[in-house]
Amino acid sequence: MPFVEKERYQISTRCRLHPDNDLYRDQERHKFHVQLNEWQCGYCKKTFYEEKYLDKHFESRHYDLLNATRSRCLADLCGALHCDLVMGSQPRKTKCNPAAVARNKHLCESLADGCFAVNEGPSASRLHEFFLRQFCDSHTCAGGQKPFSKGRKKKRSTLYIAFAILLLMLLPLFYTFIYLYQRGIKRGTQGLKRISEIIQKRKHP
Ligand SMILES: [Zn+2]
Repeated sequence: MPFVEKERYQISTRCRLHPDNDLYRDQERHKFHVQLNEWQCGYCKKTFYEEKYLDKHFESRHYDLLNATRSRCLADLCGALHCDLVMGSQPRKTKCNPAAVARNKHLCESLADGCFAVNEGPSASRLHEFFLRQFCDSHTCAGGQKPFSKGRKKKRSTLYIAFAILLLMLLPLFYTFIYLYQRGIKRGTQGLKRISEIIQKRKHP
């Protein structure tokens, strides 16, 4: 999470967003791609032709390692964290369900409390506040509130594009100005030449 790294904050393992709480991470670590058609299970050294068979093997043989009772799947948190919006899928146009929204908001706030304990210092409370504004505030049926109200990269890039277009429009104007200015100087010098010629003619008639 970039905003956490920026604060150099160490998330505790109590936080469900801590990398150790990603239950499939451990499984991925025990996946070995030995050869093109050889996938090995890191727990029992059994080998498989394809990755999907190894996944099935994890599911059937090593399901106990997944400790599902602690509900460590990050995908469960998607409702609270707007993954659907991040993944670029169309926003659902169904009617707002107040109960579901309240549940997601509660889950979101409990995530904030678990990850950034306010009593742990200024950076923790800053992150707590940021997390609430960024992810939790938009859980409302009132509308208008958009998630990620702070710091979306897209906004900045459109600003850059607008600036570039403005610059491109100003460049020709700038060059025509310079062209006209230089032409003006030339005329000016020609005028001066004529004047000096007239003066010289008068001096030497
Ligand atoms: Zn195995």
